[in-house]
Amino acid sequence: MTAPAIGLVIPCYNEEEVLPETTARLVALLARMRAEGLIGEGSAIYYVDDGSRDRTWALIQAHAAAHPEVRGIRLSRNRGHQNALLCGLLTAPGDALISVDADLQDDLEVIPQMVRNFVAGDDVVYGVRKRRDTDTFFKRFTAEGYYRLMAAMKVDLVFNHADYRLLSRRALESLADYREVNLFLRGLVRLLGYPGSIVEYDRAERFAGESKYPLRKMLSFAWQGITSFSTAPLRLITTLGLLVSLASLGLALWALTVKLIIHDAELGWASTVVPMYFLGGVQLLSLGVIGEYVAKIYLETKGRPRFHVDRVEGFTLGDDR
Ligand code: UDP
Ligand code: MG
Repeated sequence: MTAPAIGLVIPCYNEEEVLPETTARLVALLARMRAEGLIGEGSAIYYVDDGSRDRTWALIQAHAAAHPEVRGIRLSRNRGHQNALLCGLLTAPGDALISVDADLQDDLEVIPQMVRNFVAGDDVVYGVRKRRDTDTFFKRFTAEGYYRLMAAMKVDLVFNHADYRLLSRRALESLADYREVNLFLRGLVRLLGYPGSIVEYDRAERFAGESKYPLRKMLSFAWQGITSFSTAPLRLITTLGLLVSLASLGLALWALTVKLIIHDAELGWASTVVPMYFLGGVQLLSLGVIGEYVAKIYLETKGRPRFHVDRVEGFTLGDDR
């Protein structure tokens, strides 16, 4: 196989402070990999300007004029990191695309290894953080707790993998079949199921500028991940309803014993508490049952592809499949 065309996809939101350095480093990296024969014709850098309000787009235009391998895509307004990234992944050409943040927090030195894994046959190469030294205790604690919570809810994620990854053309085409608008890309790429591998790296500090993911956005993104990938919270209501119903049954027996056998009940006590608990249980249970159907509707409306073919034997897939 001739050396592949590799695209680097970089979502940018108000990144004027880092862009000159990012471009310099990425251009140098591409030149080095091209010299080594690792990547071929058509390899390029694709900046996706996510509706920045600063000079980001002007810089992208200037860099594109100065370097033929720098290209830009501009969104009509700010749509958030996940949407900007998806736009780049669905728009940029190339045999494989690698998504990187603009702030150089992800170690670029593992990109050649990602490409080598791709050439060796992997469709997805996940960048995984080895250490989180540069993160605050709070960030590390909440982030790792989150991966564990998702695992407990049976959501398949790669531990400590965010959005630094390589996707082959075939994986990108499959990704395009997911029509959902509430994006949680790191969950979606796990659903693709193609052969993948991991490269580890150390995460650095942001090169310049401030994080574009304040706590508020981070929490909403975490919640997005749960609600886009799990119906466990709905199922929890059913379980809760069952438990309360059972408990109220026990309580009813006790209340009846007090009233009919021990004859020690205030007038109206049993007839008040028994229906109260019982109705509470029935209501939760009913909500849970409705929740089960809502969960089905939710899954159906996503219209996710039901399968991806990895390979066939004895014939080739035509365009008319
Ligand atoms: N980003 C974006 N749109 C947004 C917010 C962020 O395209 O609305 C980009 C940002 O420019 C950066 C990447 O997403 O390239 C990750 O953001 P950031 O580094 O601020 O997040 P953190 O590393 O702090 O989690
Ligand atoms: Mg960052």
